[in-house]
Amino acid sequence: MAEVLQPPDYLSASSMTTFLQCPLKFKFSRIDRIKEPATEPMILGSFVHEILEEFYKASADERTFDTARSIGRDLWDSKWAKEADEVGVRDINQFRWKAWWCIENLFTLEDPQQMNLAGVETKVDDTINGVRVLGFVDRYLHDDDGNVVAADYKTGKVPLPKWSADKVFQIMVYVLMLEQMLEQPVVSGEIIYLKEGKVVAYEPTQKRRSETIQTITSVRKEVEDSCEAGAFQTKPSRLCDWCHYKPICPAWAK
Ligand code: SF4
Repeated sequence: MAEVLQPPDYLSASSMTTFLQCPLKFKFSRIDRIKEPATEPMILGSFVHEILEEFYKASADERTFDTARSIGRDLWDSKWAKEADEVGVRDINQFRWKAWWCIENLFTLEDPQQMNLAGVETKVDDTINGVRVLGFVDRYLHDDDGNVVAADYKTGKVPLPKWSADKVFQIMVYVLMLEQMLEQPVVSGEIIYLKEGKVVAYEPTQKRRSETIQTITSVRKEVEDSCEAGAFQTKPSRLCDWCHYKPICPAWAK
């Protein structure tokens, strides 16, 4: 008989999208805790996020190119040069340029000195329809009418609409979590694509809200059922070619 497994205490937006992509991949990552090695795009994203987190903690009049550059340089020296080396980044100059382009593009989207962010890297930890969800919202602010706007930074390309379902789901999870925490309605969930200098905004319509709650609820139930059965299904797709667990995946056993 298969061993009953212990479901994780909480889910995150990204772990739920992993489950939706492939339940077995979720198991390898979240239950067996087999760590996926960091990749160059992952550390580029983390490096840029950290620069922006520090940058927006500075007072408004300090938010200049020079400040961003100096924060980037310090973080590079203290942490990210080593990370890039460990991941095996071959062209360090190009890697640093890619990070800097993201920061420069932010300045084309907004004037940082005029931005009045109400929260940066805000931890949200609450239940949605009885499911504990934990995450960090990159930033949120109040618009001119006092309404809350949540936003998430991305350093990858803007996906085609037909491939954007996981991004919409993630930002809607943050919208719902922030609303509960602030006890104020969130009127927009924005994804700021720094690499291309574009913002895609999603209105939290009733349809999107109920679909998100439904997805969270059904993922939790399926995780629990799979743990109870001690078995997680494979879901082979073209994404398997980028899956770290492919060498140990039964769907690809020779
Ligand atoms: S290789 Fe494909 S089927 Fe196997 S765990 Fe990864 S995503 Fe799932």
